[in-house]
Amino acid sequence: MLAAGVCHTDLAAVRDARTVPVVLGHEGVGVVESVGPGGDNELVGTRVLLSWKTPCGRCRRCLKGAGHLCEATIGVAAPRVSLRGAPLAVMLDVGCFCTYAVVPEQALIAVPPGLPDAHAALVGCAVATGIGAAELTAKIEPGAFVGVWGVGGVGANIVVGAKLALAEVIVAVDPDCDRRAAARARGATVACAPEDAAAVVAEATGGHGVDTAFEVVGRPEVMSEALECLGVGGRLVLVGAAARDAQLLFEPRRFMSRQQAIIGCIYGSIRPRFDLERLLRLCADGTVPVADLIGRTVGLRDVPELFGRPTEGLRTVIAF
Ligand SMILES: [Zn+2]
Ligand SMILES: [Zn+2]
Repeated sequence: MLAAGVCHTDLAAVRDARTVPVVLGHEGVGVVESVGPGGDNELVGTRVLLSWKTPCGRCRRCLKGAGHLCEATIGVAAPRVSLRGAPLAVMLDVGCFCTYAVVPEQALIAVPPGLPDAHAALVGCAVATGIGAAELTAKIEPGAFVGVWGVGGVGANIVVGAKLALAEVIVAVDPDCDRRAAARARGATVACAPEDAAAVVAEATGGHGVDTAFEVVGRPEVMSEALECLGVGGRLVLVGAAARDAQLLFEPRRFMSRQQAIIGCIYGSIRPRFDLERLLRLCADGTVPVADLIGRTVGLRDVPELFGRPTEGLRTVIAF
């Protein structure tokens, strides 16, 4: 491994992990050191991004073109790490908070020269999930009114995705004023604190409400706030990972008569190889900004102290 980003999902693993202990980390860049039997030897020495979803290409959902929903993703045949003789689970088939990772060959995406390791690493989750949520899950149309609740690493990329899709109004909602400023710099047309969101959305949309609301925090009360700002025919897209036992209450009658929808979003609905290659190029040529996402760079030994603390900047990066 060369660099890995620390995603909110890693930090929430203490709350959410089904299996512990687990090797965390799912957005990372490394260099191929060796390949297993039958692997492509030409890959040795290549700088690669790790995809945390490797579709099989053969199941029903893959055949329908929804590789991000694959029923039989490709992992490694056997556990690669052990703790006192017992196999250790790895997060999302990647587990890159580690000096070495063993992954399927199909999970490797070559990184274009000139793109720094830390920037490329963030493409693996923050950029892919954010841009994908805007352009592929929500299919934002020109002129759309958009609201983004939570503009950390993923939310800041939803803002960029909405801007690239020519949304007319992009409201960034976040309690942190630095994150709001970063969202404005990335194309949000207005930014506000959560308590002001209803009034700000009403004013920015001429009272219509947003066509698409993204919830990128994973908290039911934030989902409810976003629903309040949703216009007729609008959709709430759930991007943030809620606690496994979280429940959302809403008013079905109002929801029915306004023909609204709530949809989930996993990995930004990306087609892993196609979109990761494309997004790496868009980051390399500056179309998608990345440098401003990186708050703090730490070593692997510093990771435990990140738990339970607010993230500094939008993303903390581990440099190996
Ligand atoms: Zn992530
Ligand atoms: Zn499949």
